Amino acid sequence: MGLDRFFSSIAGDIDQHAILPVLYHFGWMQWEELSFDWVLICVYGLFAVLVTYAVCWPLEAAFPVEKWPNRKAVAVDVLYTLISRVGVIPIVSFLLFYQAQTVFTGALADAGFFPPTLETLVPVLFGHPLVTFLCYALILDLADYWRHRLSHSFRAWYALHALHHAQRQMSFWSDDRNHILDDVISFLWFFVVGLAIGIPPLQFPILLLLLRFMESLSHANIRLSFGPFEHLLISPRFHRLHHALRAAGRRSCNYGAVFPFWDMMFRTADFSPVYLPTGDAQAPEVLATGGYFSQQVAGARLLVKEVSKVRTSFFEKKEAKKLL
Ligand SMILES: [Zn+2]
Ligand SMILES: [Zn+2]
Repeated sequence: MGLDRFFSSIAGDIDQHAILPVLYHFGWMQWEELSFDWVLICVYGLFAVLVTYAVCWPLEAAFPVEKWPNRKAVAVDVLYTLISRVGVIPIVSFLLFYQAQTVFTGALADAGFFPPTLETLVPVLFGHPLVTFLCYALILDLADYWRHRLSHSFRAWYALHALHHAQRQMSFWSDDRNHILDDVISFLWFFVVGLAIGIPPLQFPILLLLLRFMESLSHANIRLSFGPFEHLLISPRFHRLHHALRAAGRRSCNYGAVFPFWDMMFRTADFSPVYLPTGDAQAPEVLATGGYFSQQVAGARLLVKEVSKVRTSFFEKKEAKKLL
C-alpha cells in the first residue's frame, strides 16, 4: 500500500468515526465535503512531527552542541509543536485559507476581475508543478524573512517574539514556541501572500509543513553545518547564531527561516563557524522555564507594557509641543 493510501485510510477512519458524527449532530453539513481533506492534513501534520523526531533525535543524541542535566524546559516546546502542527496549522492553513480563497476569488470574479496567479504571470511555469511549488516556497520564505526581521525592529512586536528567543535549551522542538498573537500575525502574513500569488488550497498546508520541517532542523541542538551547501539551505549552526545570547556576541543577523539567500541579499547573513549559547537574558524567567499558559500570559503582559510605554512617550511629546 502506498504512503498516500495509508494516510487516506487513517484519515477516512477518523473522519467517519470522529468528525462526521459531530458535524451531523450540530447540523454543520456545509463542512462535510471538506472534513476528509482537513483530517488528512492533520494526519500529515502528525506524520511531519514523527519524521522530524526520527531525523533530529538521533542527530541530537550523537552530535549535541550542549548537554543538559535534565530536559524539563524542552517539555513545553513539545506541547507547542503538537498544538501547532497537528492542530493549528491544518485548521488555519487549510480550512480558513480555503474559505478565504473562495470568498476572495468569488468577490473578485463578481467584479469581473480574475486575479493573476504565479503561472499566469510567469507562463514558463505552466506544466512544471514542482518548479512552481519551489517558487511558492521561495516567495513565502522571503515574506517570512521580512516578517521576522520586522518583529525584531519594533519593541512591542519583539515583546511577543521574546518567548521564542527565551529558550536556553534550544532543540528541534523549539521552532513552534511562539506567542499565540505572534502566530496570528504570521498566519495573516502568509495568508495575504498565499492569496496574492494564488497558491492552490491543498498545496498551502503542505508547503507550510515542509518549510516548518526545515525550521525544526535549524533549531536542533546539533553541531551541524551544511558545508558546501551552507549558502543554499539554513543549517542549525546558521540559525543558532540568530538565537545566540547578546552577551555571547549576538548580532542582529540570520533572520531567514529556510533559505539563507535573503540574509545574503539584505546583508544580515553571518556564517561564522561558532556554536554560541542561546536565550534572551532580558526576558523574564517564566518565558524560559514556565508552563504554556504562564508563558502566554507573561508574553501578553510584556506587550501591554511596551505598548503603554509607546503611548506615554507619545503623549509626553504632545504635551512638550504644547508648552513650546
Ligand atoms: Zn528572532
Ligand atoms: Zn528560531
